[in-house]
Amino acid sequence: MIIILKHGADPAAVESLRRDLHAQGLEVHESVGRSRHLLGLVGDTTSVSESWLLSNPVVDSLRRISDPYQKASRASHSEDSVIRIGSTHFGGGHFGVIAGPCSVESARQIESVARSVQHSGAGMLRGGAFKPRTSPYAFQGMGAEGLELLRHARQKTGMPIVSEIMSTEHLSLFEDVDLVQIGARNMQNFELLKAVGRLGKPVLLKRGLSATLEELVMSAEYILAEGNEQVILCERGIRTFEPSTRNTLDLGAIPMLKRMTHLPVVVDPSHATGISWMVKPMAQAAVAAGADGLMVEVHNDPTAALCDGPQSLTPAEFEDLMAALKPQIEFFGKILN
Ligand code: PEP
Ligand code: MN
Repeated sequence: MIIILKHGADPAAVESLRRDLHAQGLEVHESVGRSRHLLGLVGDTTSVSESWLLSNPVVDSLRRISDPYQKASRASHSEDSVIRIGSTHFGGGHFGVIAGPCSVESARQIESVARSVQHSGAGMLRGGAFKPRTSPYAFQGMGAEGLELLRHARQKTGMPIVSEIMSTEHLSLFEDVDLVQIGARNMQNFELLKAVGRLGKPVLLKRGLSATLEELVMSAEYILAEGNEQVILCERGIRTFEPSTRNTLDLGAIPMLKRMTHLPVVVDPSHATGISWMVKPMAQAAVAAGADGLMVEVHNDPTAALCDGPQSLTPAEFEDLMAALKPQIEFFGKILN
């Protein structure tokens, strides 16, 4: 970090600032030019408070040289991280596919979807048990019973399961979930991020509706800072001025996130578009843009779905999607597993 001091800064105040920084374990290199007076900080500046520095009357401005997300940063870890969940791997050339209904609705529904998506080549089964709905009157999910049905489907098929946690109160219910999802609406629920960091299970972190990429990676940093390195990022569309799709899929986020971090990036074309016929082209675009995996909503009967029917693929549509994706994933040098 470089601190740019104000012109004519009081030398005694600068010396006092140097001493404070030194006390924080930092080396301070001073450079006095004709028009610029700088302090260069060497050491771990992640916990140096920018607002504390900016409130000092001798400080003009700051420039960060290293990323504020040290653990998630590509600079700190040049190799791709590979997250392994059962036999499904994400990152480092591995491409994982997660599929299943928006919500678990019944034992028959989740089992029949699990069997069909597994047959088409999906490696993991998704299903919401606790649903973040805009309206308090809409279906809120089956709760603990939904998780039980999901575990039952895992037992029948062997597919690892993914489900969204919405509250720290439910942590104990998620101890047996293979990949814990933090949804878009909770991307900046910092207490929940810290708690899933301590849970020590792989986490699928979805980008907030209006979150910048740096904010997404800083949220991942919360999980990593608790000692949990198994984080998968998910681009699921952002809110823009365009109303014809539910969200706008930010394809540019894929290569950018992969440059910023070593964490795998998966794409959710279902929530990104909100329209079932758009899922296939956007999934293909995500593969071409370098995604490490996909999460797709599939329902045995989308017209009767309790949540997100319009964006859900039928099992036959998912089969067609997978058939189109398999050669494409290979063409882009990845292994589907
Ligand atoms: C979901 O995946 O079920 C979900 C609610 O997605 P998002 O948090 O991206 O809206
Ligand atoms: Mn959904």
